[in-house]
Amino acid sequence: MRCKICGTENFDDAKYCEKCGTAIEQTKVVDLYQEGNRNKTGFATASMVLGIVSIVFSTVLCCTGVIGYVISLITGILAIIFTIIAWNTSKRGQAVAGLICAIFGILFAIMWIFFAYFAEDILKTYFPEIWEQIQEQQEW
Ligand SMILES: [Zn+2]
Repeated sequence: MRCKICGTENFDDAKYCEKCGTAIEQTKVVDLYQEGNRNKTGFATASMVLGIVSIVFSTVLCCTGVIGYVISLITGILAIIFTIIAWNTSKRGQAVAGLICAIFGILFAIMWIFFAYFAEDILKTYFPEIWEQIQEQQEW
């Protein structure tokens, strides 16, 4: 077991470096931690991809309707979960990009769902003139 501080080769079962006294067990734990984080970088990339899917379905592909919004919400929520998992990895930039895309994707999806199901009734009830104008505009 090589000491991380001074490079001295110690016995494998040594608890402290015989030259500088650094705790060997501790550096071993850090190694496992870093190894675990390396394995999580895939979540950062997945977060970014899912975030982009989320924002694409709630903006460019909003014509796909309810299915698109549901896809947008699911991928957005997954992207946020993956961002949390990948937060302490070297690919945090991708995780953050995924998080930002996911937040906008979810917001747009909720906004469209709101318009699709509630705004129509609100307009019809309280602003019938605006509703008529919208209907006329949609006829093209
Ligand atoms: Zn040492």
